[in-house]
Amino acid sequence: MTLILDGTVAAASIRIQIAAQVAEFKKKGHRPPCLIAILVGEDGASMTYVGAKKIACEEVGFTGKVRRFRADISENDLISEIQKINLDDAIDGLIVQLPLPKHISEEKVTQAILPQKDVDGFHYINMGKLAKGASDGVKPATPYGITLLMKHYGIDAHGKHVVIIGRSNIVGRPMSLLLSAAAPYGNASVTLCHSRTKDLSFFTKMADILIVALGKPGFVKAEMVKEGAVIIDVGTTRVEDTSRKSGWRLKGDVDFESVFEKVSAITPVPKGVGPMTITGLIMNTLEVYKAKFV
Ligand code: NAP
Repeated sequence: MTLILDGTVAAASIRIQIAAQVAEFKKKGHRPPCLIAILVGEDGASMTYVGAKKIACEEVGFTGKVRRFRADISENDLISEIQKINLDDAIDGLIVQLPLPKHISEEKVTQAILPQKDVDGFHYINMGKLAKGASDGVKPATPYGITLLMKHYGIDAHGKHVVIIGRSNIVGRPMSLLLSAAAPYGNASVTLCHSRTKDLSFFTKMADILIVALGKPGFVKAEMVKEGAVIIDVGTTRVEDTSRKSGWRLKGDVDFESVFEKVSAITPVPKGVGPMTITGLIMNTLEVYKAKFV
């Protein structure tokens, strides 16, 4: 029987625990945690993602605010806005929704966020702490959310062979660091694969836990996975679906139908990793907030 690793179920359960902690802080007279999301321009998908983050904030009792800027804001003006938020003690977490318009450097903007408020975990300081195994950095939200999902479903990476496809700075690479860390969620032996990996199937077939983040819908087929493996599908690509009003649906990087029968557990797309990324973000915000008061 294959277990569906449902991110909405795990997220709901974790968010109840977060809400209870926030309520305790409020009872003691503290203000609630505050997360600000910066949204530049009118991109439909970005507006949806930011909206979902704001709703998640409200669910757990945070103050969630969206600061919107026109698509033609200059890079300098955007960085000045970030610097103002950096100085505001009443704001705990700050994220800038990506992608940004082409005239703005995402790297410069990401690095302008104070590392202590960088609840997406993209800042060099936080990535450096992760690489060094320091426990006081902010973990990247998607990989952190995946570790929370695994914990919720009792999937222990300890001593397992984890194979990751994709080495991006937001998913694959930090995921490899988290799961190989000498930490409760880690202690795995990790193989990190990418587009230059020769004979990818040789590695994927050895995986006890296979994490897939390359952005190619349906890429991983049944013959590439080991019997009984755990599959985490991070991929989310819009593919055409004429049966829907929108004309599209989200598809993961794993060919779900063919892989499902062979494995012991698998995340669906949507409702798998997506809600856990937001949960990682919320958890990071709670942790930076608590560090101020505890
Ligand atoms: P990315 O920056 O484009 O990186 C893709 C990675 O996949 C690269 O390392 C690339 O290798 C590797 N790759 C591409 N083709 C490959 C192939 N044929 N064989 C092996 N490796 C290959 O992507 P990303 O930002 O990590 O995102 C990956 C997917 O996850 C996307 O669908 C994205 O939408 C999704 N995502 C979802 C969430 C969520 O919350 N659900 C969050 C983040 C991302 P090279 O480095 O050699 O080019």
